Amino acid sequence: MKRVYTFGDKKAEGKANMKNLLGGKGANLAEMNLIGVPVPPGFTITTEVCTEYNQKGKDQTVELIKKEVEAAVQNVEQIMGAKFGDLENPLLLSVRSGARVSMPGMMDTVLNLGLNDDAVLGIAKKSGNERFAWDSYRRFVQMYGDVVLGMKPESKEDIDPFEEIMEELKEKKGIKLDTDFSVEDLKELVKRFKQAVTKQTGKDFPDNPWEQLWGAVMAVFDSWNTDRAIYYRRMNKIPEEWGTAVNVQAMVFGNMGSNSATGVAFTRDAATGENIFNGEYLIDAQGEDVVAGVRTPQEITLEGSKRWAALAGVSEAERAEKYPSLEEVMPALYKELFDIQNKLEDHYNDMQDIEFTIQDGKLWMLQTRNGKRTGAAMVRMAMEMLKEGRIDEKEAVMRVEPNKLDELLHPVFDKTAMGSANVLTKGLPASPGAAAGQLVFFADECDKYADSILVRIETSPEDLEGMNIANGILTARGGMTSHAAVVARGMGKCCVSGAGELKIDYKARTLEAGGKTFNEGDWISLNGSTGEVYEGSIKTIDPELSGDFGHLMELADKYSRMYVRTNADTPKDSKVARDFGAKGIGLCRTEHMFFEGEKIIAMREMILSEDLAGREQALAKLLPIQQKDFEGIFEAMQDLPVTVRLLDPPLHEFVPHDEKGQQEMAEVMGVTVDVIKQKVEDLSEFNPMLGHRGCRLGNTYPEITVMQTRAILGAAIALKKRNIVAKPEIMIPLTGTIAEMKMQEEIVRETAQKVFEETNETIDYLVGTMIEIPRAALTANEIAESAEFFSFGTNDLTQMTFGYSRDDAGKFLPIYIEKGILKNDPFEVLDQDGVGQLVEMAAKKGKATRPDIKLGICGEHGGEPSSVEFCHRTGLQYVSCSPFRVPIARLAAAQANIKEM
Ligand code: ADP
Ligand code: MG
Ligand code: MG
Repeated sequence: MKRVYTFGDKKAEGKANMKNLLGGKGANLAEMNLIGVPVPPGFTITTEVCTEYNQKGKDQTVELIKKEVEAAVQNVEQIMGAKFGDLENPLLLSVRSGARVSMPGMMDTVLNLGLNDDAVLGIAKKSGNERFAWDSYRRFVQMYGDVVLGMKPESKEDIDPFEEIMEELKEKKGIKLDTDFSVEDLKELVKRFKQAVTKQTGKDFPDNPWEQLWGAVMAVFDSWNTDRAIYYRRMNKIPEEWGTAVNVQAMVFGNMGSNSATGVAFTRDAATGENIFNGEYLIDAQGEDVVAGVRTPQEITLEGSKRWAALAGVSEAERAEKYPSLEEVMPALYKELFDIQNKLEDHYNDMQDIEFTIQDGKLWMLQTRNGKRTGAAMVRMAMEMLKEGRIDEKEAVMRVEPNKLDELLHPVFDKTAMGSANVLTKGLPASPGAAAGQLVFFADECDKYADSILVRIETSPEDLEGMNIANGILTARGGMTSHAAVVARGMGKCCVSGAGELKIDYKARTLEAGGKTFNEGDWISLNGSTGEVYEGSIKTIDPELSGDFGHLMELADKYSRMYVRTNADTPKDSKVARDFGAKGIGLCRTEHMFFEGEKIIAMREMILSEDLAGREQALAKLLPIQQKDFEGIFEAMQDLPVTVRLLDPPLHEFVPHDEKGQQEMAEVMGVTVDVIKQKVEDLSEFNPMLGHRGCRLGNTYPEITVMQTRAILGAAIALKKRNIVAKPEIMIPLTGTIAEMKMQEEIVRETAQKVFEETNETIDYLVGTMIEIPRAALTANEIAESAEFFSFGTNDLTQMTFGYSRDDAGKFLPIYIEKGILKNDPFEVLDQDGVGQLVEMAAKKGKATRPDIKLGICGEHGGEPSSVEFCHRTGLQYVSCSPFRVPIARLAAAQANIKEM
């Protein structure tokens, strides 16, 4: 087994597609050699050795790789004309970690390895630069001490012992910058650093270069199993077995004086996607100096430098003198760097994030990788690279992460306005976007201000209208699938939920957060993408759905087999979704329509009625109002199918549970409060989720189904008279047995027949069901005898398959995920192994009975990319999701299909 792969002098044993074995950094270092880019020579110890190390420990691992490493070091020595461990002409090395994907939490790089009290003199003599030699040594002892010998402070309150020593000396000398240290100061620092090591670790700093090297290599392997790394792996679903590679490489020095520099650059703008080379550099610097923020880095290009100066308010004269670009300072080297970045982008056909160092007038590349980018940049780069002919249409579609589109669809905070913003507290990022508004505590007061933020302990269906008016929603309780979160996402409205530190006093109308008290009418701002809550009003900017976005969506449709519908209950949401490309409604929840004004009164009258006649009388009042609601939605969705779900929630959700509300209801209904109280008690259930709801309502009170059928078909007929085509699909909720389904179907069909006779019109419509109870999935072949379509209600199906109540799962799900019992929140990411089996089975059984059965999904999962892919593989015809997730689902559907091509 080969464990070490060398690279250098335009030769390499590895290449770019060997990331699994060599890690991302190692594979690309090899590849850069192969395409003739100047890279300091070195070698990569494979990720497999990391796994061996985890099993066998240090001594055996060293034994396994010793010969290969020694040979590889010799190869570097030959190319560099220097010798590792030599006193006159020592070769110095860097030791760098590198997993398959770049991973924070891994070991920091150790530079200048191989130095000791003797070698430093050799380096000083050979370079003729004593300062450089001692600066490198000082850095080495510090880095090695921090990352290999464990001197780095564990908590953020502690200070790095080395930084402390440096600060002391700076103060004593009255200097500010590291670059102000004299050679004598640097010597003094090395001495004190080493003393600190001996004191803290009980062992002297290792002088022997080989001991240093093995120590650093093993430290890289150890870093794979630090808490930080494990945490990151869990968050990002990176398997433990992957391991990390170790890259050992000859040092090149950016800290050799004014003809040396180090920097980082991007082949395109990672924030906007603009095709413009950009980056930062520092003269006479090493390693992470550029990003460490100790000195102000300068722009690489003249154009970038001018743009920076304009933003920073620096005059052209000052810019040119104090912060000139690399293009101005080292024009020839700049040209070389510019050509190399072009070459790298041409080679990888993607935006590259590169690191380079200039040693005494010679340019070296130290890293290249596909750069991280914002959602907007991702779309723009993919579409522009398509136009440039670098990638084909399928590749362009695959280049964009569906979830990243979310960033493009919502307002964001103005960057300049963010500067002085004060974070009060943090909750869950429940629904993305940014919003500012004046505080209100009650949903029916959201219209008090033109811009309001609704703050509640938690929200309920009665708050719907207010939620729709408010700019954003903030709750103290509830998780990512709480009422507030789900509804807000549906509306595309910014929401922060579960901000547990908030203290809300409804009576006093105050909010306590971040040690301050806020009153109704005070301004706050929310970032629903991060969960942050800010004091005051921060300016927001609306998203712009540019031409590139439209182009991407066209391609997505071209390459997908499934299509995307939306979950919407209002004409407004329907319109938004249609604009985002929805091809119909997959779930129109009718209960939301019953809460506003007149409707809730009629609804409550029905609930209070003791007999059928009373209920029918109340329902007769509801009929025209409900029909109007449907007309609005059907019109917004004309020519496209609309799945309307019949009444689903238990009736107790429609009656008030607080004293004040009950009194009001009693007055309106003309009964005593006790009557209301009694009714509320009658309706209360031990477990409403499994109670008197769904088709159980329609089968015990058929008159409700009759009224709703009349309203749906009546609306379709009314529109037909105006030449608007409505395509209703009537959906029975919570079916568990074929008898339940058949009974509902009969009521719907009989009612339809009557309506058609009365109006002398007909409408094409379908009757189908949600599959959301495990028994329905198990007996789907029977259910399909009656149902013309299935829509998988994976919210309830998940709830009932796991036996987790969605409203209570917030108490243990986070712990389950942290402990690794569950990989994901099953309410967010469809559980393909478990719940997915029921979906597959039901789809198969449904088709066996009724080959042309329509199949779709309307749970929250319909907008989650991995779940969309599952739906594609299972052969569903469409997914349905909230309006603002429609573009995400369209892209995910295309990617699922392209993966199969
Ligand atoms: P990261 O994975 O955090 O980017 P790197 O391994 O890229 O860590 O190292 C960080 C920095 O150290 C590099 O950007 C570069 O400036 C410096 N560095 C690494 N190897 C060398 C080397 N052989 N010569 C000079 N500088 C190096
Ligand atoms: Mg790097
Ligand atoms: Mg349901």
